[in-house]
Amino acid sequence: MENKKIVVALGGNALGSNLVEQMISVSDAVKPIADLIEEGYEVVVTHGNGPQVGVIQDAMTLLSRENPEKHPHFPLSVCTAMSQGYIGYDITNKLREELLDRGLAGNVACVLTQVEVDPQDPAFRHPTKPIGPFLTKEEADKKAMEKRHVFIEDSGRGYRRVVASPEPISIIEIDTIRALADAGYVVIGAGGGGIPVFKTENHHLQGAPAVIDKDRASELLAEQLDADFLIILTAVENAAINYGKPDEQKLGEISVEEAKKYIAEGQFAPGSMLPKVEAAVKFAESKPGRTALITLLEKAKDGINGKTGTRIHA
Ligand code: ADP
Ligand code: MG
Repeated sequence: MENKKIVVALGGNALGSNLVEQMISVSDAVKPIADLIEEGYEVVVTHGNGPQVGVIQDAMTLLSRENPEKHPHFPLSVCTAMSQGYIGYDITNKLREELLDRGLAGNVACVLTQVEVDPQDPAFRHPTKPIGPFLTKEEADKKAMEKRHVFIEDSGRGYRRVVASPEPISIIEIDTIRALADAGYVVIGAGGGGIPVFKTENHHLQGAPAVIDKDRASELLAEQLDADFLIILTAVENAAINYGKPDEQKLGEISVEEAKKYIAEGQFAPGSMLPKVEAAVKFAESKPGRTALITLLEKAKDGINGKTGTRIHA
């Protein structure tokens, strides 16, 4: 029988906001991933880049300000490409080490992945995706004035810059990812939702000023790889209704219909939990037998075994 396929998406926010925190989080995150591989699942790993891409762009902006001729503006698409290397490097090495320690083949391939978006996507007029560090209201107001960035309050955690987060249309490197996964390699792909690109004339791909939500890109990837599970690992154990209120209620196993009802009620914040629940619904609906799970990074194994997390099925 063919191995069951899983796409595991690691939350950018769960990966910490600097290299030291990231190294610690990634060391933890690779364990449940290695468990799945050890159990015989074919695993493709994706990851977010919200905090990291913001930090990278801030650093690049400083460089451009110092010497704009030597270092012209670094577009967001290029910063996402950098984040794929920065995060992918860490996951590749830690996962390789963990697999070799267990006596498994340590072949991990990180695929630089571009994802097509539509220049007419309404997201370009309504930024929703939080990136970069969490700021106080005062810091956010100051930056908004200086840089003309848009800021929002992000789920009670502080203020963050928001950028356009268009729908992923197609994954340019899908055949490469599929070929590597089918050949038995552990693949890391579509990091940070993929480098957003517009298809222009001939074969040219032009970087787009956006950050695709990795939950949406992971869903598309999971469908196109014909995966059985989409596992979204993040900083909370469950999606909840009345989130952050005294009557908060964690969601366990729910149907697509229930999830849709809660989405319609506005229970999930756009730019954070909403894309996860929407991705989970889309995946569960896409073909009978497909299940999506949202849980805490450290609880991946319990989640797969049905012990925790929010599980959405058709
Ligand atoms: P990631 O980096 O893993 O994609 P996000 O910050 O984008 O993480 O989304 C997860 C966050 O969504 C949680 O940590 C929580 O703060 C926030 N959130 C917003 N609404 C809800 C909800 N209804 N239930 C649970 N978490 C929610
Ligand atoms: Mg997110």
